[in-house]
Amino acid sequence: MFSLTISFNLHPNQERIQNNIEMLATMVDQSKPGWTRRPFTSWYKEGRAWLKQQMEQAGLQVSIDAGGNLIGRLSGSEEHLKPIMIGSHTDTVTGGGRFDGIIGVIAGIEIARRLQETGTTLRHTLEIVDFTAEEPSEFGISTIGSRSMVGNLTAEMLERTDQTGLVLDEGIRMIGGNPDEIYETARKTGDVSLYLELHIEQGPVLEQNNMKLGVVTGIVGIHRYRVIVEGKPNHAGTTPMNMRFDALTGASELVLELENLCKFTYSDPVVGTVGKFTNEPNGANVIPGRVIFELEVRSIDSEIIENIMSSFSKYAALVAAKRQLDISLDNLSKSDSIRVLPDVQDKIAAACSATGKTQYLPSGAGHDANQLASIAPVGMIFVPSREGRSHCPEEWTDFAEVALGVEALARALINFDQDYIERR
Ligand SMILES: [Zn+2]
Repeated sequence: MFSLTISFNLHPNQERIQNNIEMLATMVDQSKPGWTRRPFTSWYKEGRAWLKQQMEQAGLQVSIDAGGNLIGRLSGSEEHLKPIMIGSHTDTVTGGGRFDGIIGVIAGIEIARRLQETGTTLRHTLEIVDFTAEEPSEFGISTIGSRSMVGNLTAEMLERTDQTGLVLDEGIRMIGGNPDEIYETARKTGDVSLYLELHIEQGPVLEQNNMKLGVVTGIVGIHRYRVIVEGKPNHAGTTPMNMRFDALTGASELVLELENLCKFTYSDPVVGTVGKFTNEPNGANVIPGRVIFELEVRSIDSEIIENIMSSFSKYAALVAAKRQLDISLDNLSKSDSIRVLPDVQDKIAAACSATGKTQYLPSGAGHDANQLASIAPVGMIFVPSREGRSHCPEEWTDFAEVALGVEALARALINFDQDYIERR
């Protein structure tokens, strides 16, 4: 049978990728630890200006959309095909590293350069996107740019103010966006053929398994709850052990039970964490009267999370009865998990396997892909994170591994460009 498959010639230039990553690492707030480039700051704008230059040199037509996203566009040969988009982000958390988000944007630019150098024309238009402010921001929102692109940034969110008094609406204008046009220009289902993202794993799985590439099966959903345990504060010296209503010992049972429930083997991986905890009145000689803590459970299967929370809440009722405490559970948020379509996973897996040792794994962290998934099929490739560390200065991926990720992404792009079936 006739096949359209051409020999792959887009091998990325590792040295150029390394230079790009190192260059962005110089455009950071030196007064903060690590490599800090918070959105809407001078360092962010400096990085953006440099990225724009890189995009232009790679032959991309550069624009900034209503949400401030920096977009480089390369027209394809078949006008009726909707674009394939490659994106990530270049903002960092405070005290963050040099790779999170950054490698995904650099990867897109490197692929554009290789297309240019080899005189390769794609059928689909290619868009390389540096999404505005992906990390949790002072406005209490993350993935600001990708939200805006899919029309999921509300008027209320645009009016929020950070500690410095900056209104999000103004911040977006500062980097060249125009919030007034976010809704009319938002992309709709079918406007994008496919969204692809290369990212560091931010966890230890690939390194532990000695794998070079990860095919992301989906992005976990996150359910968060606030638990309030009410007991009775009393004198720690005069109240006998059998006459206490100690909120902290009750809360401790709950914290351990969450760990137990999440340690069982389920059909998909689960993690559960109590990361925020306060004890009142918090005095050395006072029996704790009230504990407030927040817990979250993450899994790609929301039914597993629901089942865990149902068991947890039954257990909480037992502890409340046994210890005569008041225990309340309030849901704070539920974000849905994203599943990568099986045929998208297969094509990415083929591209990854042709490049290096590959395994499937879910993403335990959220990404811009979460937002894009509301309008288009999405696919993600992970490269290893040394010791699984991320959002810290120690965050590291060998440049050779980043280059493998870029190659796998380029192979995936070519595979999809040649025979991807449009979905509506
Ligand atoms: Zn990221």
